Amino acid sequence: MIENENPIISDSLWSATANPAPLCPLLTGEAETGTAVIGGGYTGLSAALHLAEAGHPVTLLEAEGPGWGASGRNGGQVNPGLKDDPDAIEARFGADAGGRMVQMSGRAGQLVFDLIRRHGIQCDAVETGWIRAAHTLRARAALHHTARQWQRRGADVAPLDAGEIAALIGTDAYCGGLIDRRGGNLHPLNYALGLAGAAQRAGAVLHGHSRALHLENTGDGYRITTAKGSLRADRVLLCTNGYTDGLAPPLARTVVPVRSVQVATAPLPEEVLDTILPGRQAPSDSRRLLLYFRRDAQGRFIMGGRGAYSDTGTRRQMAALRQASDQLFPQLRGVEWQFEWGGYIAVTADHYPHLTRLDTGLLAGLGYNGRGVAMATAMGKVMADWAMGHREDALAFPITPVRPIPLHRARRIGVAATVAGYRLLDRLGL
Ligand SMILES: Cc1cc2nc3c(=O)[nH]c(=O)nc-3n(C[C@H](O)[C@H](O)[C@H](O)COP(=O)(O)OP(=O)(O)OC[C@H]3O[C@@H](n4cnc5c(N)ncnc54)[C@H](O)[C@@H]3O)c2cc1C
Repeated sequence: MIENENPIISDSLWSATANPAPLCPLLTGEAETGTAVIGGGYTGLSAALHLAEAGHPVTLLEAEGPGWGASGRNGGQVNPGLKDDPDAIEARFGADAGGRMVQMSGRAGQLVFDLIRRHGIQCDAVETGWIRAAHTLRARAALHHTARQWQRRGADVAPLDAGEIAALIGTDAYCGGLIDRRGGNLHPLNYALGLAGAAQRAGAVLHGHSRALHLENTGDGYRITTAKGSLRADRVLLCTNGYTDGLAPPLARTVVPVRSVQVATAPLPEEVLDTILPGRQAPSDSRRLLLYFRRDAQGRFIMGGRGAYSDTGTRRQMAALRQASDQLFPQLRGVEWQFEWGGYIAVTADHYPHLTRLDTGLLAGLGYNGRGVAMATAMGKVMADWAMGHREDALAFPITPVRPIPLHRARRIGVAATVAGYRLLDRLGL
């Protein structure tokens, strides 16, 4: 179970610039539905929206409000694909399942932008592409290899040399990389709130401040208990990612929650903005502890990276992000930094998202390893397909067995040690 968010870092740029949230009343008394969705981030909201659009009864329970978790706090980068390259995915999962995963993850960005257009979601979405920036020659070679693999599959992805990436980003800190034109960026909380509104309009019932406290198999379905009510459902979709609690053990032991943090400036003067990301792409770099950055619609510069478990450590990381920004863009020195915040991502042992069936009618989708704007949206759609009775072996993402991480209790020590090792390797440029 995650400790309460520190209020100092939960007041984000996104909540300060959010559209009005749709009303999601508390669950009270006894209710009944076909599919219950637990968790109101992109995974759960996309599942609820796709089910409701297909005319299936669906009720979503969210412990706080829609987008309260990572979906309302992230960098808003719409990143197609998975962490592994397409060839590696197909080699690992086979041509059939692997091929479906490559297709589903490659098209995930398009799904996001299509939903935004179809439902008129106001979230400053721009389809300008996603830049992956190489900090070493070895990383550049790997990214060029990635770009060629996608090109072979007909995707609009191109390798970048040092001059091209410098022109796109506005710094000569990177020696090349790639641009994936299927990606872009958006206001993450407004995207989540927009999905919630669209799901409601399509007929989904959304309850806020209704944490699922207890889940039982009643033989003819499931009963979920909250503080003020209970919900009977034929099947349940668990969509709690980095905020997974003890509701359905052993799910919490299949992921490690890791904090990611961001800092944002005040809106920048035009002459500074002209020199940073003039095409409004959102890059992530190739460091193991990667930096990801972008501008927002009001002309703020936002930098993100790995947080720490302690608040002191997290504050240190936020200071380091401001420093890294000044190094990349010296024109930022002395500007006002207006926001700092963070949230939890869910890391898996194999760095793949997991679609896991815990019981006949109980499916979980989680573990986006910090890359969930597009993937969680796409996973929610796959979960809706499963709930509507699509054949399991034909789903766009394979169902894999539950795999609790050994020694999960020691995860913080493991993560801290890995982070320290990665920091050293990044510093050495290896
Ligand atoms: C700081 C940060 C930056 C990131 N940047 C990017 C990025 O730029 N691009 C990208 O692709 N990804 C990014 N990510 C990752 C991305 O945000 C996540 O992968 C994605 O939002 C996961 O969506 P989700 O719906 O699965 O989970 P979440 O959005 O985390 O939602 C889970 C929800 O479950 C609810 N919940 C938990 N337990 C219960 C319960 N028992 N009952 C009811 N509700 C419950 C929680 O309240 C929460 O709202 C970032 C993440 C963070 C934290």
